[in-house]
Formats: sequence, structure tokens, C-alpha cells
Amino acid sequence: MAKQSGLTKKIDCRVACVHGDNDIQFMTMALKEAAKAEKIGEVPVGAVIVKDGKIIAKGFNRCITDSDPTAHAEIIALRKAAKKLSNYRLNGCNIYVTIEPCPMCAGALVNARISKIYFGAADKKAGACKSVLKVAGNKKLNHRVAFKGGVLKEECAKIIQQFFKNKRN
Ligand SMILES: [Zn+2]
Repeated sequence: MAKQSGLTKKIDCRVACVHGDNDIQFMTMALKEAAKAEKIGEVPVGAVIVKDGKIIAKGFNRCITDSDPTAHAEIIALRKAAKKLSNYRLNGCNIYVTIEPCPMCAGALVNARISKIYFGAADKKAGACKSVLKVAGNKKLNHRVAFKGGVLKEECAKIIQQFFKNKRN
């Protein structure tokens, strides 16, 4: 990375030893997407899709802006990635998303044949990898998507908590 913000540097130093360097780097990019959502008053969730070590699509939550209940960060990124690859299957692609995907997004990620989901903070109210429902790795489905949670979880949780705190004040 040529240029790093102060936040990025701090994150790199503190947690690079816990997760793979790439996981941190990609989740940091997802966090930057989440910040874009926050700027326009949307719940700050961001996602990036990675293929062969490169980011091929990004997205952030824009449900209010687009008057679209399906405009979650993951769906936005999925649509862009599929367009880019001219393929509705995203085999060999990984997604990094700041919060555990909801049932809709986890379902879409399974349909897209995403290889692995990396998420930051768990979502105790709507998470569909492990917290509320188990969609991603469900053995009853004909396709299962691997997932790993907890990548930069504190940073990912903080941006959301701060958002709702500011809203209440
Ligand atoms: Zn979702």
C-alpha cells in the first residue's frame, strides 16, 4: 500500500500478528466503504470482493439513499463483481464485510458460490453465519460457504456503535 491513513497504520501494527496480513488489509478497505455509508447517513457497513488477491468490487450500505431494502453492502458488491466477471457465479472470490451478513445477504452469497466470507463483528440480532441463523455453512443447502468472523471485529463494531450513539444524541 503506497499511502496509509493514521487509522490504517494503527490497525496494521496492532492486529497483523493475529490474522493474516491480507485479511487485515482487505477488511480495512471494507471499513473504508463503511465510512462512506456513514457519511451519507446510512448504517455503516462496507464490503469488498477479492479474486486472486485483488479487490474486484466494493460496496457500502445505501438502503435509504436508494429506497431499496436490498441495497446492503454485500449485495451492491456482489452485483458489481458479477458484472465485472460477466458471470453470476463468483467461484474463487472471497468477500470481506464489516458485519456478519444478514439472511438475505448470506443467501445471496451462497447462491453466488462465493468461496469464503470474512466478517468483522458478529451480529447478534440478524447474523446469518452463526449468530441467529446458520445460512452460510448450512449442510441442508446444496452449497455451503465457508466463513471466518472476528477480522478487525473491534473496529468494525465501533463504527456501527458510534453511528447509533450519535443518532441518539
Ligand atoms: Zn444484508
